[in-house]
Amino acid sequence: MTAPSPNRTYQQLRAHLATLKLDAAAEALAGVLDEGDDKSHVDVLERLLDIQVTATTTRKRESRRRLAGLPADHRIDDFDFSAQPSVDEALMRDLATMRFVDKAGNILFIGPPGVGKTMLAIGLGHAAIDAGHRVYYTTAADLVARCHKAALEGRWANTMRFLAAPQLLVIDELGYLPLTGEGAAALFQVVNRRYGHGSIVLTTNRGISQWGEIFDDTVVAAAMLDRLMHRSVIVPIDGESYRMRAHQQHTEDLRKALADNTA
Ligand code: ADP
Ligand code: MG
Repeated sequence: MTAPSPNRTYQQLRAHLATLKLDAAAEALAGVLDEGDDKSHVDVLERLLDIQVTATTTRKRESRRRLAGLPADHRIDDFDFSAQPSVDEALMRDLATMRFVDKAGNILFIGPPGVGKTMLAIGLGHAAIDAGHRVYYTTAADLVARCHKAALEGRWANTMRFLAAPQLLVIDELGYLPLTGEGAAALFQVVNRRYGHGSIVLTTNRGISQWGEIFDDTVVAAAMLDRLMHRSVIVPIDGESYRMRAHQQHTEDLRKALADNTA
C-alpha cells in the first residue's frame, strides 16, 4: 500500500474540517501549514483550533448582541464619570464585572431625565453580552404592550418564558407612562418569574416612595419592589441633564464665537 500524496491528505483534511463545520479552521488551513516547517503537528493543531474557537466565540457573541436589541452601542468606558459625580465609578466598574448577574441580583437606576440612566443600563447590557450572558432590552411600555398582545393572541406562557430566559433583562423607562392595572400585573409577573434566578437592570425617573403612583396600586407596587430589592444595588443619580448641559455649553460657545467675531 502506498502512502496518500500530501495533496490528497491536505484535501481530505480540508474536507473533514468543512464537514465538521469548522469553517474558520478550514479557511485558515493552507495559511497555517505555510507558516513554516519548524512547526510541530501539535503547534499546527493548536493554531487551527485557536482560530476556530476565536471565530465561534465572536460569532456567538455578535448573535447575542443582535438578539439583545440594545438601542445604542454605549459602553461603561464611554460614560463621563467626571460629569456625573453622583455616580460612583468604582461601583459601576464592579457591576460591569457581572458578578451581580451570577448572583441573579438586580440594579435600579433612579433619577430625573437626561442624567445617563439609559446609557449606563445599555453599557451594562453590552458588558453582560461580552461576559457570555444572554441579554434582552425593552422599555417598560414595550414590555407591557407585548404582554397585552400575547394575552390576546394566546401566547402568554410563551412570552413569559421568553422574558424569563435571558440572564439579564433591561427594563428601561419605568414610570414615564402610568401603567394600567393589567400592565402592572404583567410587569409584576415578569419580575416574579425572574426573581432569584435572573437579573434585571431597571431605570426609572420615580423615587421608590412614588412607586404607588406608577402602578396606581400600592399592593402591586410593594410586591414588585420587594422582589426587585432582593440582592439589589440602587444607583440614585441626580444632578442636571447631561444633554441640557451639553446644550448649554454649545450655546455658550456660540455666544463666545459671535462675541469674538463682532469684537
Ligand atoms: P436618561 O436615561 O437618564 O434620561 P440618557 O442615558 O438617555 O439619560 O442620557 C441622555 C444623553 O446624554 C445620552 O445621549 C447619553 O449618552 C448622554 N449622557 C448622559 N450622561 C452622560 C455621561 N455622564 N457621559 C457621557 N454621556 C452622557
Ligand atoms: Mg432613559
